[in-house]
Amino acid sequence: MLEIRNLCAAYGGPDVLSSVTLEVKAGETVAVLGANTAGKTTLLRTISGLVARARGSVTFEGTELIGRPAHTIPALGLGHVPEGRHVFPRMTTLDNLKMGAFFHRGAGDIAQRIQRVFALFPRLEERQGQMAGSMSGGEQQMVSIGRALMGNPKLLLLDEPSHGLAPIVVDELHAAIGAINRQGVAVLLVEQNAVLALSVAHRGYVLEAGHVVLSGDAQALSADHGVRRAYLGV
Ligand code: ATP
Repeated sequence: MLEIRNLCAAYGGPDVLSSVTLEVKAGETVAVLGANTAGKTTLLRTISGLVARARGSVTFEGTELIGRPAHTIPALGLGHVPEGRHVFPRMTTLDNLKMGAFFHRGAGDIAQRIQRVFALFPRLEERQGQMAGSMSGGEQQMVSIGRALMGNPKLLLLDEPSHGLAPIVVDELHAAIGAINRQGVAVLLVEQNAVLALSVAHRGYVLEAGHVVLSGDAQALSADHGVRRAYLGV
């Protein structure tokens, strides 16, 4: 579904991603683990066309994304939930969700999509009239994920959804990510919380200083000594 080959990316200085090769197959949840500044956010931003200096190949269902204008990428079936959530703070939860379908009008019933989001996150239904900026961090993360789902993505890019959230909220999000995947949406999940990531993912990659240094199925990565020491606190 998503095939990344020899991807390099930079912001003007040296490469932040160096020859990254990675794939996500239809129906999979794939985790990308790595410490601060490993390049995880840059990887997702490059897939979404937000990093101008990219070389190599990123194909999504056979369509090359490198060089493609960023605004044309969501319509191919890619949803991006950015680091930091970036909800529209002065809009209601419901309007934030509707914004997620803005570029996808006519491609399905908006009301049905909203009901799908509410079924995943009942809290959003309860708080649909509340300004998103006044919601808790976890609720804003739900809004951000829900907004991306409103575009009916085939692949969801999730950037650190658990960042800064209480363990009970992290558990809720974890369950929702599993449910989204079971609905047939592939997930590429970037996380510093390796325990969370490996518990929901089928496979994973470890990124260090812009290089993929390890990859494998989630169980094998969870058992790997280096991963356990560096990312699982064992
Ligand atoms: P974190 O978890 O801290 O967000 P990360 O693994 O997601 O880390 P990136 O945010 O991709 O890492 O950053 C990788 C490198 O790219 C860092 O050295 C960072 O300083 C640099 N970088 C990120 N964004 C920019 C930018 N807009 N301009 C210049 N350099 C950037």
